[in-house]
Amino acid sequence: MFTVKGIPASDGYAIGKVLIKLEVKISKQDNSEVNTESELEKLNKSLAISKAQLQSLYEKACIEVGEKNAAIFESHITFLDDPEFIGEIERSIRENNITAISSIESVTNGFVAIFESMEDEYMRERAADIKDVSIRIIKNILDIKQEFIISKENTVVVAHDLSPSDTAQMDKSKIIGFVTDIGGKTSHTAIMARTLELPAIVGTTNATEFVKDDDTIIVDGIKGEAFIDPPEDLIDEYIIKQKLYKEEKEKLKSLKNLSLSYKDNRKILLAGNIGEPNDVDKVLENGGEAIGLFRTEFLYMNRDSMPTEDEQFEAYKAVLTKMENRPVVIRTLDIGGDKQLPYLEMPQEMNPFLGYRAIRLCLDKTYIFKTQLRALLRASLYGNLAIMFPMISSLDQVEKAKSILDECKNELQNENKEFNSKIEVGIMVEIPSSALIAEEIAPHVDFFSIGTNDLTQYTLAVDRGNENISYLYDSMHPAVLKLIKMTIDAAHKYGKWCGMCGELAGDPAAIETLVSYELDEFSMSASSILKAKKKIFEILDK
Ligand code: PEP
Ligand code: MG
Repeated sequence: MFTVKGIPASDGYAIGKVLIKLEVKISKQDNSEVNTESELEKLNKSLAISKAQLQSLYEKACIEVGEKNAAIFESHITFLDDPEFIGEIERSIRENNITAISSIESVTNGFVAIFESMEDEYMRERAADIKDVSIRIIKNILDIKQEFIISKENTVVVAHDLSPSDTAQMDKSKIIGFVTDIGGKTSHTAIMARTLELPAIVGTTNATEFVKDDDTIIVDGIKGEAFIDPPEDLIDEYIIKQKLYKEEKEKLKSLKNLSLSYKDNRKILLAGNIGEPNDVDKVLENGGEAIGLFRTEFLYMNRDSMPTEDEQFEAYKAVLTKMENRPVVIRTLDIGGDKQLPYLEMPQEMNPFLGYRAIRLCLDKTYIFKTQLRALLRASLYGNLAIMFPMISSLDQVEKAKSILDECKNELQNENKEFNSKIEVGIMVEIPSSALIAEEIAPHVDFFSIGTNDLTQYTLAVDRGNENISYLYDSMHPAVLKLIKMTIDAAHKYGKWCGMCGELAGDPAAIETLVSYELDEFSMSASSILKAKKKIFEILDK
C-alpha cells in the first residue's frame, strides 16, 4: 500500500478505482538523422487514427450534447483533410529533413500566426482549433492515450491538475472522488468537488506518480490522505467511516428549514454557490435559501463558440425558475486567470491572474458583455435576480458596467422585450483596492459580495492554487479580516447588504468572526451549508 498526503479540499470518503489523467509532455525532437520516409509513414498513420477518433467523438457528442455543440469535432476533421495544411507538413518533412513532429509544430505555428492576424473574429478563433488538431496528431504519433473517458462507476480521478474545461467534459455521475498533484483549497478542483459533494485531496505534489489505472484507492477528504492498494482491513475501516459520515450528514438535514436572524431580527441568509443550473438541486437539498454566486463562466466552456443570448437566457431562466423567487445572484463572466475559452484567443500573459480577465475583458469586448446582460435582463422576469460584476478594482469600472447595463435595458425596451427594471446590481469585492474604497463605491451599488478566494491571494500575494505556499494562504490573516470588516461596515453605512461568496463563508473556523461583523449573507458550496447553519445557530444561541 502507498499513502499519498495532500491538502484536504472536500469532505467525505471514497473507495473506488483510479483513473489517471496524464499530462502530455512532448520532448524536444532530434533532427540530426531523420528517415524521411518513415516520418511520412508515421504522419499518415497518425492522420488515419486521428480521423477515426474524431469521427467517433463527433458521433458520441451528437448524442450527448447535440449536433451543434459536436460541430467542433467535425471542424477538426476538415483540418485533417486540408491539402494546404497537411501538404505543407509533408513538404516540410521532405525538404527540411525533419521529424513529423517538428514539421507539425512549425507548420502549425505558421498557420496559427496567419489565423490570429485575420480581421474576421470567426477566422481568428480557428487558430485554437488548428492547435488542438496538431496536438492530436502529435499524440497519436507518440501513441499517447487521447481521450479521458470515464466509463466505469466508482471512478476516482487522479490528475496533475484539473482545469475547468477538463471537468466540464467529465461524466460526473461516475466519479466518486478527486486527487490532484497541485492546487489549494480554493483551486477549481476543490471548489467543484465541494459543489458536487465529493471528497477531494489536492496539492499532493506527486500522486500521479504512485498510481496506475484501476488501482484500488481510498480517498479520505477529511484528513487529506489517499491509500493506494489498501489492505482489506483498511477498506473495512473506511466502509464504517463512510457509513457514520453519511449518518452524520443525514442528522444535519434536520436543520434544513432552519431560518436564522441577528438579535435585531435582520435575516442571515444561507446561500449556495453554483456553476451550472443542475447544481441548484444540491443547494436546495442542503437547506440553501438563495444562490449567492452563479459562476456563469461554465456556460462558456466545453464548446466551440460563445453561448448565444438565447442559450444563456435559458440557463439563467432555469436557475431562477428552480429557485422559485428566492434570491439568485448571477455573476457576469469571470474568464481569464485559470479559466480559458478555447474559441476566444486570449493574449499570452506573464501574470494571467493580474491580467486581462473578468470585468476588464467584458468592458473591452462589450459584444460579449452585452449578450450576457441582455440574456440576464430577459431572464429577470422568472425570479428574484441580482447581477454581480467580478474583479472590480475602481469606481470607474462600476460606472462603466452599469452604463452598459443601461444601454442593454434601452435596447430591450426599444425591441419591446420585457425585463424587471428593479434588478439589484452589486459587485464582488475581491481586490483589495475595492475593499479600501468600499465607502466610495457603496452608494453606487445595491450590495457587495466578498470574494475571499481572490481577496486573500491579492492581499497576501499568495497564489491561491500553489501548493508550495499554501501555508501562507490564510483568509483569516488580520489584513484580510480588516478588509472584510471595512467592506461590511461600508455597505451597512449606506444601507446596503453585504454577502460573502468566497470559501471563507463556509469555514466553521471563520463563522464566529463573520457573525460578529454582522455579515448578511453567507454563500458557499452546497455541501457546507448545513454545517454552517449549525455553527451560526450555536453562536447566536450563546
Ligand atoms: C472569490 O474569488 O472568492 C470567488 C468567489 O470567485 P472565484 O472563486 O470564482 O474566483
Ligand atoms: Mg474570484
